[in-house]
Amino acid sequence: MSTDAPAPSGVEEVHVLWISEGMSCDGDTVAVTAATLPSLEDVVLGAIPGIPKVHLHNKVLAYETGEGFTRAFHRAADDELGPFVLVIEGSVPNENINGDGYWTSLGNDPDTGEPITLNQWIDRLAHKAYAVMAIGTCATYGGIHAMAGNPTGCMGLADYLGWDFRSAGGLPIVNIPGCPVQPDNFMETLLWVLHQAAGHAPPIPLDDQLRPTWLFGKTVHEGCDRAAYYEQGDFALDYNSPKCQVKIGCWGPVVNCNVPKRGWMDGIGGCPNVGGICIACTMPGFPDKFMPFMDEPPGGSVSSAFLSNAYGPLVRSLRAITNRTANKEPKWRHNRAELTSGYQPRRTGH
Ligand code: SF4
Ligand code: SF4
Repeated sequence: MSTDAPAPSGVEEVHVLWISEGMSCDGDTVAVTAATLPSLEDVVLGAIPGIPKVHLHNKVLAYETGEGFTRAFHRAADDELGPFVLVIEGSVPNENINGDGYWTSLGNDPDTGEPITLNQWIDRLAHKAYAVMAIGTCATYGGIHAMAGNPTGCMGLADYLGWDFRSAGGLPIVNIPGCPVQPDNFMETLLWVLHQAAGHAPPIPLDDQLRPTWLFGKTVHEGCDRAAYYEQGDFALDYNSPKCQVKIGCWGPVVNCNVPKRGWMDGIGGCPNVGGICIACTMPGFPDKFMPFMDEPPGGSVSSAFLSNAYGPLVRSLRAITNRTANKEPKWRHNRAELTSGYQPRRTGH
């Protein structure tokens, strides 16, 4: 998807207003504290050249509490704060069905003393933000809180604001899914948005689900280091195996995510690459379309049957023969009193 952001604006200071009061566990906030490329500290302390000065407002990390913390949000709503990026964490409940109460809120309205719902904050702030980012699968697509049978009728931010929403900076909602988000995936995306705000980057490339294309353009399977086992039809039958886990629940072949390729923190960890089936936690259909997680995915048995029964065993045995050959040194490497390498001195006769 091409974004129709306006010409570079050259913003010098940006506030990041981060609301984690959706249907949320704060897991994405916690995850992002593990980022290193860049770290939150790098961004907030100005260690990254070329981006605006950043003022972060996140309740888990803020020094301020209570009304001191919510002041920046009120000032933004009153057009007094300056340029800001709005980050939403957690799914957005349907407050049309909340009865006499509310599903979730941040702070109180000073005039009425009533809680201000997440939805009211989004209504007040989203159109004024330079960019609006949805962090984690709950905020992007609804996620676990929006699964069948939930009482809040919650949804992702684009379901609430509309998929054709544009921020004041001309950007669509920027979705960075994951449950939780992979730390560097979010920080890289934020860095792009900040560079764009500074006028130093082209419009951020997003796919039709509003995900950054360079992060979510490939499948888990395409980046999984167990894919060689898959290709040889060699499948794990229990959870202690180093082999491909498609028969014990891995959805990797049909899931857009880079975690096995990237690792979790500094290249360490992941999911199927280190023994945990991919449950498709980045996907708009998560979790309902992938449950029960520990059953073999429907496509798994079809795609693996041919590999298991015919192609796989044949290819494995042929490769084993070649592997044995490759594991032997050539016969001319010896310490005998003769040269058998095939060397022939060049003859320069007159
Ligand atoms: S473990 Fe999952 S992602 Fe990895 S190769 Fe097997 S099916 Fe693909
Ligand atoms: S590999 Fe699968 S389970 Fe792991 S983070 Fe990506 S989508 Fe989620």
